[in-house]
Amino acid sequence: MIRKNASEMAAALAAKEISSVELVNAHFDRIAEVDTQVKAFLYLDKDGALSQAKAVDDARAKGESLAPLAGVPVALKDIFTQKGVPTTAGSKILEGWRPPYDATVTANLKKNGIVILGKTNMDEFAMGSSTENSAYHPTHNPWDLTRIPGGSGGGSSASLAAFEAPLALGTDTGGSIRQPAAVTGTVGVKPTYGAVSRYGMIAFSSSLDQGGPCARTVLDAALLHEAIAGHDPKDSTSINAPTPKVVDAAKRADVKGLKIGVIKELQGDGYQKGVLNRFNESIELLSSLGAEIVEVSCPSFEYALAAYYLIAPSECSSNLARFDAMRYGLRVGAGDAEAVMSATREAGFGREVKRRIILGTYALSSGYYDAYYGSAQKVRTLIMQDYAKAFAGVDVLVSPTAPTTAFKIGEKSNDPLAMYLNDVATIPVNLAGICGMSLPSGLADEDNLPTGFQIMAPAMEDQRLYNVGAALEAALLSKWGAPLLAKAPALGGSK
Ligand code: GLN
Repeated sequence: MIRKNASEMAAALAAKEISSVELVNAHFDRIAEVDTQVKAFLYLDKDGALSQAKAVDDARAKGESLAPLAGVPVALKDIFTQKGVPTTAGSKILEGWRPPYDATVTANLKKNGIVILGKTNMDEFAMGSSTENSAYHPTHNPWDLTRIPGGSGGGSSASLAAFEAPLALGTDTGGSIRQPAAVTGTVGVKPTYGAVSRYGMIAFSSSLDQGGPCARTVLDAALLHEAIAGHDPKDSTSINAPTPKVVDAAKRADVKGLKIGVIKELQGDGYQKGVLNRFNESIELLSSLGAEIVEVSCPSFEYALAAYYLIAPSECSSNLARFDAMRYGLRVGAGDAEAVMSATREAGFGREVKRRIILGTYALSSGYYDAYYGSAQKVRTLIMQDYAKAFAGVDVLVSPTAPTTAFKIGEKSNDPLAMYLNDVATIPVNLAGICGMSLPSGLADEDNLPTGFQIMAPAMEDQRLYNVGAALEAALLSKWGAPLLAKAPALGGSK
């Protein structure tokens, strides 16, 4: 059962072929079997999960009407607060903190009866592309344990690829849902900015951060998307409009007559040959399904990475000021408040977080503000204009999700610039506030590792991602004869 999709699990639960308690226990067994190698989780909440599962089973036995995913387990990125459950955002500075409240996403999962197994590993405060910046331990890619599972949401993507959970939550500031999906052969969606509440999602860069669904199929991602999205008065940037009908779109899966734009700037130099080969084959498949393929140019994308690495650190330097040793988690040293604050931040933050706080503080300092932060904001506007122009002529835009397949643990950890380049194709989506999906497009020729296909759509047109994604997924499935993950090397047993 653990190798089934979430929608199949939901059907088995509804037919009473299995109980939620049994399903949740099967996942904890799998976690016990493989997580010493994968290390996807930071915390397991066995008691909480089993009591949530029992409540769903009881409600079902009474004949109550339940939400579509009721009783199905989920792995929650450790950036979402969960009442009473340790929440660290991958940082030592929050070690031991048990939040007194649920994030809106967490509350929505509970409301839908989706059972939270535990908290997944991540780069500290979601800063990174490999999960090596976690203050606790790296997570290993189930396709090859010597490689990274992507980041910052590597715990969530690895838990899906290792069949430790059928659903997971991520957050995407510059690619942290989509790039981990790409390198683990899973599906990840960054919804339109403002579509999923940020309340209780520990802030990194507030104008870019967006929570979203991770799963093994497009339909499963859609089901989770509808469970977590919606207007939230507790988040002032939350969009007050109905959630796009993404489940219907995933079921429609019809690209006939659609116009698909291939972004010229997001291919070529720096992209691995095998990644581009799989990307081009997927484009041909979409064309054979009746879509019209055109090439479009987004000239300002060249500056996206540079603009992101000014805007994101600037916002993080302000957001992370709250970790002052007085309110949460760690406290180090003695003496006056300033001495304690400085000793705590020195001990509690890791190298990458400090680098970004310093960079952001510098970029925002008077005298440099216009040159750095101000220019980056102008680039952001140009990127929005590139998208607006492109979407005037096409329904969706596409590109490879990440330029390469999963690299080796340790390979880029001392080279921040090489690490930052992983998100070259995903960052423009965040800067413009639009939506994007990554789905598996096959294994690269060079290394037999998963590659990702990215679909982008205008704000609040998330259903287009699911329609096109599901059509491509179905075409690839019939070509391969089995889901990509069936090709992953067996990990610790064969259940
Ligand atoms: N890898 C990017 C960064 O390090 C994006 C992270 C994210 O989306 N949270 O900032």
